[in-house]
Amino acid sequence: MTEVKEQVALITIFGGTGDLANRKLYPSLYHLFTKGFLKENFAVIGTARRPWTNDFFREKVVESLKGIEKEGFEPEEFASHFYYQSHDVTNRESYVELKNLSDELDKKYELQGNRLFYLAMAPNFFGTIASRLKSEGFVDNAGFSRLIIEKPFGRDLASAEELNESLRQAFDESEIYRIDHYLGKEMIQNISVIRFANSIIESLWNNRYIDNVQVTLSETLGVEDRGRYYEESGALRDMVQNHILQIVSLLAMEPPIKLTTQEIRHEKVRALRSLRVIEGDDVYKYFVRGQYGPGTVDGKELLGYRQADNVNPDSNTETFVAAKLMIDNFRWSGVPFYIRTGKRLAKKATQIAIQFKNVPMNLFGSNHSLGGNVLVIHIQPDEGITLHMNVKKPGQGMLTMPVNLNYAHSSPDGMNTPEAYEKLIQDCLNGDATYFSHWDEVSLSWNFIDKVATAWSNTKEHFPNYTSGTMGPKEADELVSQDGFKWFD
Ligand code: NAD
Repeated sequence: MTEVKEQVALITIFGGTGDLANRKLYPSLYHLFTKGFLKENFAVIGTARRPWTNDFFREKVVESLKGIEKEGFEPEEFASHFYYQSHDVTNRESYVELKNLSDELDKKYELQGNRLFYLAMAPNFFGTIASRLKSEGFVDNAGFSRLIIEKPFGRDLASAEELNESLRQAFDESEIYRIDHYLGKEMIQNISVIRFANSIIESLWNNRYIDNVQVTLSETLGVEDRGRYYEESGALRDMVQNHILQIVSLLAMEPPIKLTTQEIRHEKVRALRSLRVIEGDDVYKYFVRGQYGPGTVDGKELLGYRQADNVNPDSNTETFVAAKLMIDNFRWSGVPFYIRTGKRLAKKATQIAIQFKNVPMNLFGSNHSLGGNVLVIHIQPDEGITLHMNVKKPGQGMLTMPVNLNYAHSSPDGMNTPEAYEKLIQDCLNGDATYFSHWDEVSLSWNFIDKVATAWSNTKEHFPNYTSGTMGPKEADELVSQDGFKWFD
């Protein structure tokens, strides 16, 4: 259980008028306020280029809390801790004013010099902001200085290294919190508990008992209005390099000797180092890419990716990736980790399916097939776990039937699991970086992904190759069926 410890800090949000700040950050801070993690001694500065006043900014903050207001915690009172500073991050003068305001608020709210900088802006500004924070004396304060940065962290290893170097000139690695909001999700954090608090699970968590592991992050939405960003990114960089490899490393890592940030990271890094390198022609054996074409979803005709705004009509960008990852170590040798992610798929779901090996022989008759045991970890939109088992069909004879043992967050424990951003901001205020990506993880992931991206950039695929509203190209099914398996749906 989390101890309610009041956090004392000045939180400066770069990109304070943006979508992320409005939809995620202000509601998350409000939740922390209603739970007592933020009380009297905190202040928030929102910065962006628009010439807003404090009053107007506070109105916007209150607006962003519509529908989540909690009795006894007036949004206006919460918003009274918010200040707005019109600021062009590329202009040095702006930092002088911002620094004055920061020092003033530090005194007014007795913030002990604790500072959290949240970069909710386009990544090309990250380096500039970090170096200005250093050169203008923002990080020479008495308390802590921590930096949260949003994805994407580079678009390949070289650009990630460059970005990292510019951040490291101002902040130590221990002060940099690279956000991967999947790591803040309740059921992702639950992976360690499911594995390490249940002897029946951990003792089976290896290649003797597990046939294959499947990680699916599927979306029903298309690229919408993010065409410009997506053309540069694609599903491989947008989803696999960060979220999926993070999930795979949590599933595959060895038990850490303690549940501390360092020990968990150490094991995740070892898991990533065990990933079989896929390059050259092998990329086409282990990876499948797809791009959605037009289709009908819920009776609505939808355009294909190439028809979206700011997308090249001849685009070679993938909106779908499936892959077979192999982890070459004692525990996982021979066990495929199938992953898939994509836009405009048949359903929105993030789930992990662990398929256990079948019993050595079927005692229940050759024309009576036995389904294998599957442990499904539902991450979103449902949160919970399901264990698929076989039991006796009631009545005469020895017929079997499949049943599901379910644990859903929505039943016994109530529905209000905190938003990922809320947990992660709180962790950062607490100085706990366990559920943030360390540079070693980021660099290993890019090193792995770059080889796939290079192979793909050298050839043009026959896109579009899947219809909107389906589960991706048929090659993704073949990737799994050629090993004798099926995607778990
Ligand atoms: P946005 O375009 O809505 O907001 C960008 C903000 O930056 C605005 O407040 C804008 O005024 C400000 N800005 C731009 N140029 C500036 C300058 N020169 N000086 C000062 N301010 C300037 O973007 P967003 O959707 O909020 O995304 C922000 C970051 O978060 C991006 O890195 C994005 O990839 C990441 N992200 C966003 C989401 C999301 O749900 N929106 C999810 C995951 C990651």
